[in-house]
Amino acid sequence: MAVMPSGSGGRIELPENVVVSRLDALANWCRKNSLWPMPFSTACCGIELMATGAAKHDLARFGAEVFRFSPRQCDLMIVAGRVVMKMLPVLQRIWQQMHEPKWCISMGACASTGGVFDTYAVVQGIDRFIPVDMYVPGCPPRPEQLIQAIIDLQDKIQREGTITGREFDTVGRQLRKRALVEITGHAAIDASRNPVLQRELAAAAEAITSRT
Ligand code: SF4
Repeated sequence: MAVMPSGSGGRIELPENVVVSRLDALANWCRKNSLWPMPFSTACCGIELMATGAAKHDLARFGAEVFRFSPRQCDLMIVAGRVVMKMLPVLQRIWQQMHEPKWCISMGACASTGGVFDTYAVVQGIDRFIPVDMYVPGCPPRPEQLIQAIIDLQDKIQREGTITGREFDTVGRQLRKRALVEITGHAAIDASRNPVLQRELAAAAEAITSRT
């Protein structure tokens, strides 16, 4: 327990090299400055994603340049490009394999809304299936826009995070979207070989049933 010396006017003199902070703030400071992206690049937006990591834009300045292709080493999913229905189980599997707390940036019109590909085969926004923290508009967005999204995400992590990371819990954060259930009625997604997707679909169906 800190003892306040008499005559100190309510102020505590800290020894040299001692800094006082909250554990939440410290954990979030570490998290936000060591984001490891998982690139999920499927189309032209991926080229801008590559440019963001290259020398001219130098994402390393913001502590988020360590791109990994192993989901277990990553905590930031960047989806760049359109995602087709056949690819969706792969996207979900990779997302599930990433550590908590984890975040997602949807880069470009296609990832966020399906873009100009308003067809049965293209996912009309990845946020129907995984939670998205930042949306980057454009077709394609410039690297500066992606960098701004990463900076904004870092702000969000610093402001909202706690040491336990409960606020980033995927299940709580993921809005149960009607699309998940509607798709089960059709053969758009074959979930027979994907237990993760089966659980997601069952949970979404249950959530919507309990609401109605
Ligand atoms: S948003 Fe534009 S640039 Fe990006 S994947 Fe779609 S068509 Fe390509």
